[in-house]
Amino acid sequence: MSDHVDQCDACDAVCCRLTVTLQSEDDIPERFTDITDAGLRVMARDEEGWCVAIDAARMCCSIYETRPEVCRRFAMGGPYCREIRAEYADHGARGIPLIMY
Ligand code: SF4
Ligand code: SF4
Repeated sequence: MSDHVDQCDACDAVCCRLTVTLQSEDDIPERFTDITDAGLRVMARDEEGWCVAIDAARMCCSIYETRPEVCRRFAMGGPYCREIRAEYADHGARGIPLIMY
């Protein structure tokens, strides 16, 4: 759907700044993962909060083919996508405290 591609192209991949909780079926290289204080295995994030699996030069997922289940379920152009983009537009990166389960 070209609409969706256009949306992501015009977006700073704000969904990739959410905490991504990993599921048992996810097969993600350990260098990309982290364990939270609460003991959850998550995608690691850089100092600015973006997932370390982002290919910053192309602003896309460098492990797209094997990306986590929650990333696969995230609907481009869906309510959650629109909501976090609106938050980001209004408040910048600090306005996105959301978590993807
Ligand atoms: S927030 Fe939505 S538009 Fe932006 S990269 Fe993620 S899915 Fe694409
Ligand atoms: S694994 Fe890929 S799709 Fe998921 S948050 Fe990280 S960069 Fe985004």
